[in-house]
Amino acid sequence: MNIQTKMAHGIRVDFDGPYTMSIDGEPVGSNDTFEVYNPATDEVVANAPSATREQVEHAVAAAKAAQPAWAALSWEERSAYVTAYADALDAHKQEIITLLTTEQGKPRHSMATVEVDYAIYWVREVAKRRLEDEVIEDTPQHVVKVAHTPLGVVGAITPWNFPILLGLWKIAPCLITGNTMVMKPSPYTPLGTLRFGEIAQTVLPKGVLNIVSGGNDQGRWLTEHPDVSKISFTGSTATGKKVMAASSANLKRLTLELGGNDPAIVLPGTDYEPLIPTLFDAAYGNSGQWCIAIKRLYVHDSLYDDFLEDFVAYAAEKTVGNGMDPNTDLGPIQNKMQFGKLKSLFADVREKGYSVPLGGEIDEDRPGNFVPITVVDNPPKDSRVVREEPFGPILPIVRWTDLGEVIDDANDTEFGLAASVWGPDRDAAIEVANRIEAGTVWVNEIHIHGIDIPFGGHKQSGMGVENGREGLEEFTNTKTYMFAK
Ligand code: NAD
Repeated sequence: MNIQTKMAHGIRVDFDGPYTMSIDGEPVGSNDTFEVYNPATDEVVANAPSATREQVEHAVAAAKAAQPAWAALSWEERSAYVTAYADALDAHKQEIITLLTTEQGKPRHSMATVEVDYAIYWVREVAKRRLEDEVIEDTPQHVVKVAHTPLGVVGAITPWNFPILLGLWKIAPCLITGNTMVMKPSPYTPLGTLRFGEIAQTVLPKGVLNIVSGGNDQGRWLTEHPDVSKISFTGSTATGKKVMAASSANLKRLTLELGGNDPAIVLPGTDYEPLIPTLFDAAYGNSGQWCIAIKRLYVHDSLYDDFLEDFVAYAAEKTVGNGMDPNTDLGPIQNKMQFGKLKSLFADVREKGYSVPLGGEIDEDRPGNFVPITVVDNPPKDSRVVREEPFGPILPIVRWTDLGEVIDDANDTEFGLAASVWGPDRDAAIEVANRIEAGTVWVNEIHIHGIDIPFGGHKQSGMGVENGREGLEEFTNTKTYMFAK
């Protein structure tokens, strides 16, 4: 089916399909296909190829064959290729943005545009980064030098919430450090990745970046493959554990970016009113389908009642709808599996009788996976909405009085991805931040990322980091040379 015929609001993709995998520089289809849906309309927008085991084998073999020549290029030569890739993506930017909204649901004019712009910027900037050799000892007797060598073939597995950004976050550092890749996107959102894979073949040597689509099996085949040296995975903690187990056969290197249940703590005396739009976006952006969304908002008792009233008043003005509509603030939930999880969570909130000052009822008759913006007022610590990662537009706002207790509550989770602390006294807020168990803690700001800022989870939110020098190093082996003088 041609995606153009299904495009809403008159915005179309300049690409007719069919969507093909990229293996050894060639567009490759499959006799086996699966349907990709528009979550705002429930309509099928395209059929994507489901890779056979032989095709995954072929992709890994192509990446393996291409890797030595790719690694033999200088950093400058690889950088020129990666920059050319950023240019090629830029030339197709509008199409990718529309595709992202169509298969993922996020608003085209805001979140989808930001994701694609940011992803292309990332590729361009990472192309400028280098891992220089470091001389750590130079005595009259000998020299010790630390270098970083490529790992070989990297398998990349991505989720459905930010498929473009999270995919390109992996590709750019993998390629610049001299590795080649086989990437497998989520079966819910394969189209943008297939398309950026096709675009890559116009500028990169064949076999350097291969894309295979399919369900979970194709991911498993990558994690089990003896010629894959590393898995760079973003997804749920449950799947991350399976990836880790399967990767043990050949001791693959792993970067696991997993789930989170991020707390935000608002301290007494905070001038919260100007922060409400920021806190709203941080919790509900991408309809809450965000690993680092605020998922528990702890507000001090002295502010709680006014805060809740003002926050709810602000949130009530926001719209949920088709992401192609420029008036939409939040799009649908991306897929039926996640929609079902949210229905179960909403039913639990209803059955337990928690106070819900905004939202709370999912309209089952409306086509698409739409969930209303929902606020839960001070649910108990052990409630599902506090304990679980909802991954939807529902936020528990929790009243607190004792600082030690709220820090304990914030840390009382298997997750440790990110957190934020908000307060009038920066040093006091930093003191609180120091006690939070998370890979990233923001103070009086949130969701700042950067090419040179490492990002990764503590506890069961992950292993290793992406971005920063450390993120680049994770695509390499450390090699120590010692020379007698
Ligand atoms: P998921 O774990 O269900 O799927 C992620 C990917 O893994 C998909 O491509 C899927 O096909 C593949 N997969 C499934 N089973 C596999 C297996 N046995 N072996 C190999 N691959 C397999 O996650 P999701 O639902 O797509 O994404 C949502 C989750 O991702 C949330 O928990 C969210 O917090 C997390 N996430 C984390 C980050 C981060 O940076 N920490 C970023 C975005 C999303």
